[in-house]
Amino acid sequence: MKPDFDVAVIGGGPAGSTVASYLAKGGMSVVLFEAENFPREHVGESLVTATTPVLLEIGAMPAIEAAGFPKKYGAAWTSAETRTIDPLGYGSGPHDFRTAQIRFREREQPGVDRDYTFHVDRSKFDLILLKHAESLGAVVHQGVRVQHVDFDGDLPTVSARVGGRIVDIPVRMVVDASGRQTMLGNQLKVKVNDPVFNQYAVHTWFDNFDRNALNPANEEADFIFIHFLPLTDTWVWQIPITDTITSIGVVTQKQRFRQHEGTREEFFWETVASRPDLHAALEKAKRVKPFKVEGDYSYGMQQITGDSFLLIGDAARFVDPIFSSGVSVALNSARIAATDILAAHEAGDFRKARFTGYETKLRKAVNNWYEFISIYYRLNILFTVFVQDPNYRLDVLKMLQGDVYDDEEPKALAAMREVITAVENDPTHLWRPFLGSLTAPAAKASF
Ligand SMILES: Cc1cc2nc3c(=O)[nH]c(=O)nc-3n(C[C@H](O)[C@H](O)[C@H](O)COP(=O)(O)OP(=O)(O)OC[C@H]3O[C@@H](n4cnc5c(N)ncnc54)[C@H](O)[C@@H]3O)c2cc1C
Repeated sequence: MKPDFDVAVIGGGPAGSTVASYLAKGGMSVVLFEAENFPREHVGESLVTATTPVLLEIGAMPAIEAAGFPKKYGAAWTSAETRTIDPLGYGSGPHDFRTAQIRFREREQPGVDRDYTFHVDRSKFDLILLKHAESLGAVVHQGVRVQHVDFDGDLPTVSARVGGRIVDIPVRMVVDASGRQTMLGNQLKVKVNDPVFNQYAVHTWFDNFDRNALNPANEEADFIFIHFLPLTDTWVWQIPITDTITSIGVVTQKQRFRQHEGTREEFFWETVASRPDLHAALEKAKRVKPFKVEGDYSYGMQQITGDSFLLIGDAARFVDPIFSSGVSVALNSARIAATDILAAHEAGDFRKARFTGYETKLRKAVNNWYEFISIYYRLNILFTVFVQDPNYRLDVLKMLQGDVYDDEEPKALAAMREVITAVENDPTHLWRPFLGSLTAPAAKASF
């Protein structure tokens, strides 16, 4: 059988469009199937600076800059916590470890030529990236859902639904970028739901929300804000979408939502009411979209590469969105995967062994995120303490920039691990009252 294309990409989100761009640029023939017709809405609106080198490399940055998305220069965290402590023994009395803020310009990042990234309306951002892949030569089919990939023959064959018909397309290699729908992960039965994180999000957009309402330190109003709520494992994102529209989302434990008997709207308002200042500011604004929910979203895969296939972006792994890592993992997994795929193409060999470099790098990077996130949930005050500690600030910032793809484990991660173990093992520890509900052994990634 002769292949119709070198590569079929399933999904035209940021991961799929980016890998299609790299591969088309590298001279491969690429077909991309996207189930929806773009523009389509999508959650995941705040980027980190690790996206910049990828957008520059594939040549999409001019179009992204031209779109006029709000520029994101940093991030800020606020809290309703009123207890003060002297956690690192600075000796000069209690410090305010309830809030924190960082600016990307504080740390030089390889391949990053500007001190900002963007907050994006994903319907526009994803369309720009998809059109970009097309402009580089990828053949893009929108409104076409892949149903199945047959790996039994000489070549993988992709079965896609086009109108009422199923069409079979033989290719040399398949890249699954189907996002949280995890098309191949489901088909191959390699998906493992996360045993620890069972988070749930309710989100919407507001017009004329006062972005300075919870801005005690007067940071830039166009930062992303993460507002801790005084409820276990619960926080709110505040992301600028335009000059006047702000995305607001509540992330909480799924069991809290399950126990609630009202509508998702009532749940949203009751949850934000635990921060009266936030509730008051939201009440003065106008909601301009229906509430949307996202659940069951943390998982991994027992396998992310195989003979003639590879999984990228959310199709490969999903971790909690607290540090805005998702789109950067989508873009960087596409970048790293493309290197291995182009080398496999050159060698005419698409067997699994060709993709070991990708698998090792991606697992290592996402495990850094995972542990960072898990530490945050176990003891979130530790995070703000480390951000404010001059010994660790730049190292924490490195993670917050999404700069996690090199070989070394961030030193802040090892130090945080040590502190948290001490707190969890010592019932009299000064920080004990600040512990979250997750426990140390259970919070280890199992995949
Ligand atoms: C509550 C929440 C908040 C988040 N906040 C952030 C944030 O602030 N910043 C951030 O960076 N990330 C955030 N994320 C994560 C971010 O949304 C994702 O990581 C990102 O969208 C992943 O990109 P992707 O290309 O892998 O998948 P997606 O963007 O989901 O794209 C997958 C595409 O594949 C298509 N598709 C699926 N199945 C098929 C099929 N069978 N055939 C053809 N097409 C198919 C879908 O229609 C979709 O367009 C958040 C996620 C959640 C759940």
